Amino acid sequence: MIRRLIDKVLGKKAAPRILPLQKHGIRREQLHSCALKVTDTLAREGYAAFVVGGAVRDLLLGREPKDFDIATNATPDDIRHLFRRSRIIGRRFQIVHVYCGQDLIEVTTFRAAAPQPEDDEDEARVTAADGMLLRDNVFGSQEEDAARRDFTINALYYDPEKQEIWDWHGGVADAQKKVLRMIGDPAQRFREDPVRMLRAARFAAKLDFHIDPATRAPIAELAAMLARIPPSRLFDEMMKLLLSGHAERGVKQLRAEGLHHGVLPMLDAILDDPARQKFLHHALHDTDLRIREGQSASPAFMLACLLWFDMQQELKRMRAQGLSEQSALFEAMDTALERQRRALAFPRRFDGMIKEIWTLQGRFEQRSGARPYRLLSHPRLSAGYDFLLIRAEGGDASQELADWWDRFQDAGEAERAEMLKPAQAGDAKRKRRKRGKTANAVSSELG
Ligand code: ATP
Ligand code: MG
Repeated sequence: MIRRLIDKVLGKKAAPRILPLQKHGIRREQLHSCALKVTDTLAREGYAAFVVGGAVRDLLLGREPKDFDIATNATPDDIRHLFRRSRIIGRRFQIVHVYCGQDLIEVTTFRAAAPQPEDDEDEARVTAADGMLLRDNVFGSQEEDAARRDFTINALYYDPEKQEIWDWHGGVADAQKKVLRMIGDPAQRFREDPVRMLRAARFAAKLDFHIDPATRAPIAELAAMLARIPPSRLFDEMMKLLLSGHAERGVKQLRAEGLHHGVLPMLDAILDDPARQKFLHHALHDTDLRIREGQSASPAFMLACLLWFDMQQELKRMRAQGLSEQSALFEAMDTALERQRRALAFPRRFDGMIKEIWTLQGRFEQRSGARPYRLLSHPRLSAGYDFLLIRAEGGDASQELADWWDRFQDAGEAERAEMLKPAQAGDAKRKRRKRGKTANAVSSELG
């Protein structure tokens, strides 16, 4: 660190620490074959080509990488021409998607660091008055590419040809010490992109690292800057945290850093209310376990959990207005979803599944006649049942009901028939009034 400062003052160029295979133990065979194909091709054409970011970090920590990103000095056009199945994606910065079969590898040209104040006039790099980086579209050297990354452990470059790690900011030592450290001046880097604060909480939780005190210090004061981030980006970042398999710790970390207000409106409401908190705790805990066991968990499931109480409150209000049970339910679901969408802009494609999970909760109450059998082939049975389990743990549904469904799903024909509850007085009436069926079922549960 001090050496780097002295070098900077003397105008010396920084050099990476280059670690050979014996020092880090990552063999090229551990990479995804598509990533190898891409780096091998680039190297053969004389370009520098490194695996970078999360994949190197995860391999170094003995974890399985989620995806393999590649950084190179080839330009997007160069890359595009080398790979038949590739296309340039341009958002804030052009990247190239290279496909091998079903797999996709992201290839990025080395990109320059954040602008210095005197660069403000520069066309491609624009900073707002408060230091937030608005555009960032300049190719750079590998050194510059490393400097604009967020944390030291995320700025490691792996060269598959030589099986070397190029470490520009002490990330290998930090990985060993389990420290999450921002590259450069933390306050400035958080101002440039406030989402880095959420990323700090996410990585600390996911990797079980502690945030370096100097990195942590400015967060509380800068937390309010998150209000300037587009809701859709906040939503994506929060879903990454909530579906990381370490959401319980992640939300704790958010609270510890004072970051939980204003990131997800529904999280504010939940964390301010003990009953909702308890439910959230079970929801996150169960979802974490499921993900860590390799089962799926979707944003829709998470949203169904986060908005459950909202929807119920809305349902009570609709009933009080004298709406029929079914109308009340559908109005309540729509209102709860629309209200959040105004604040959060989450995609409509999740609505169908969220509503199905919610609607199933009432249908689980119906345990006589043909109804429970119908649910056995319901496409969302498994998600709905998982949701029921979380409610039971949180005291929001009876454990007896959850156990019953657990048994009923696995039971043979004879056992199922025996399990059925006697038809209740209201059943015949409900059967005749077909359209009210679902809503009645839900009302008895939510009541
Ligand atoms: P994950 O395993 O969650 O995907 P990751 O480190 O790969 O973790 P990504 O969001 O996929 O995270 O980003 C890839 C890399 O890009 C990071 O490792 C980091 O070097 C860089 N990066 C991503 N977002 C930022 C940011 N907001 N500021 C600076 N660098 C970033
Ligand atoms: Mg990644």
